[in-house]
Order: sequence, then C-alpha cells, then structure tokens
Amino acid sequence: MNKLVKTQDVTYEYVRRDDDGNVENIVNAIEGINISIEEGQMVAIIGHNGSGKSTLAKHLNALLTPTEGTVWVDGIDTSNEEKVWDVRQKAGMVFQNPDNQIVGQVVEEDVGFGCENLGIKTEEIWERVADALKSVDMYEYRNASPNRLSGGQKQRVSIAGIIAMKPKCIILDEPTAMLDPRGRKEVINAIIRLNKEEKVTIILITHNMEEIIGADKIFVMDKGKLVMEGSPREVFGKVEELTEMGLTVPEATLIGKKLYDSGLPISLPVLTKEELVSEIGRARLSKFR
Ligand code: ADP
Ligand code: MG
Repeated sequence: MNKLVKTQDVTYEYVRRDDDGNVENIVNAIEGINISIEEGQMVAIIGHNGSGKSTLAKHLNALLTPTEGTVWVDGIDTSNEEKVWDVRQKAGMVFQNPDNQIVGQVVEEDVGFGCENLGIKTEEIWERVADALKSVDMYEYRNASPNRLSGGQKQRVSIAGIIAMKPKCIILDEPTAMLDPRGRKEVINAIIRLNKEEKVTIILITHNMEEIIGADKIFVMDKGKLVMEGSPREVFGKVEELTEMGLTVPEATLIGKKLYDSGLPISLPVLTKEELVSEIGRARLSKFR
C-alpha cells in the first residue's frame, strides 16, 4: 500500500530567544518519531497533555518542519520550502476551536475560501463547496451565517472547507474537545463517513477513546516519544500501561477488565458494549456448565 505519511527520526525543539537573539530556553517537544500512515487509513494519536501530539500533527502539513529528521507527505519532503503549498493541499488541518477557523460571513463563502487561495476557477469552486457541504451534512446551511451555528455545525463547516480543497488526508487536532455530546457525535460521524465513503485518510488526535474504537491504528505518545502503536485491540488491551500514562480506555474495556480481575473468565480486551454483553453471557454459561 501507498505510504501517504512517513516520518523518520523526527525531533523538534521549540527555541525561545530573548530580545538580543540569545537562546533563553529549549523545549524538546518530540523526539525520534518514526511513523507511517497508509493511504485510506483512519489513525488516531493519543497521549497526555504536553506529550507532543500537536507538535507532531503540525509537522504533517508543514506548519512545522523538523529540527532533525524528515517528514514526507505523499512522497514530498516537507522541509522543501518550494513545496509547502503542495503539502498543505494534500494534508489539511482542522483545529480544536471552531470559532477561530471561520473566516466567511456566509457558510458557502467560508467553505470556498481555501479553494480561492489555490486559484481554482469560480465555477469549480461552487461545485466543490456544494459537494463538501453535502459530505458533512451541512448543505442546507449553505446560506447561513456561521456565527449562528452550533459548535458541531461550525466544526463540520471547517472540515468542509478542507474537503473542498480535495486533500488526500485530513489531520484533526482534538476537533471535538470543545463540543457538547451531540456536536461530538455529528463531527465524528462526518469524519468516519469521509474515511469510509470518500476514502480520505484521517489522522485524529483525541482524548475521547470511544471515538477511535474503529480506527485502523492508534499511536500513543508520552513525553515527546512514540511509546506504543497498534490496533485498538492491541493498544486498549494494555489498560494498566495506559492508566500509568494518565490515559483512559473505552468504558466497556474498563468494565471488562474489572470483571476479569474479579474472576469472571472473559476474553480481554472487549472494546464495545455489545462485545461486553456477549462475553459476559459466554462466561456465565461456561461457569454454570
Ligand atoms: P500536546 O498536543 O500533546 O498537548 P504539544 O505538542 O502541544 O503537546 O506540546 C509538547 C511540548 O512542547 C510541551 O512541553 C509544550 O509545553 C511544548 N510547547 C508546545 N508549543 C510550544 C511553543 N509554541 N513554544 C514552546 N514550547 C511549546
Ligand atoms: Mg495539543
């Protein structure tokens, strides 16, 4: 399969200088990161606050370039300054706060903004905007004022703005963190649909483990390092290690683990409520046999 994103030994230092240009302070935000993401995958990045998730994410669309090491997006080295816009067109980014990402007075105009910057013809922009809004189920709001939308709707408009640029990949940095449960659900459903139906590669940073049960792969960051990677089943199977890093696991996984620890012979890990129910049923049957 085609590697869409690849990093090799990526390290990034934030360097703070005083007014005379002398180095005051260096923060080694990420260190020795090696990841690769295949086209069409949905992957998640999790980790405690300050573990380097956002710093890594910003490398994946050339908002930052490595202090050491290399990042390739669709084969392009992101430190090639002439290719920065190619990289950003391939990998778009959605941030946490929906209010900071809205630039237009009307939804349609907002969604078309990125395409205008790419120099796409007006007629094609309208077509792309309509398709993008449909893909996140916001088409009926095309003439609305973004200010009047809910957080979940605003976030979907931001996603549409990226989608209209036809990227291969969308990086979402805690897109649901500021939303209410309903907004979260709307945004996550839109993301999953883009991945499954439109084959957009998704890189999702989140603290909400329920959102990533269906991911192809999870990367776990701790103190600037990549400390674990695997399928949701592999990663969430390590409840104790995750807890030590200050991370949670899906609710059903935690309940399953507690039942197992208290003696119920179920197979771990369970990821969903459905799996939990069927495992409990199986374990009880075997107990009474
Ligand atoms: P996360 O997204 O996982 O919370 P970040 O990538 O934001 O982690 O931060 C990683 C480390 O880099 C932290 O120690 C943080 O304080 C530091 N950091 C982040 N942004 C900056 C910045 N602009 N200047 C200096 N240090 C920063
Ligand atoms: Mg962050």
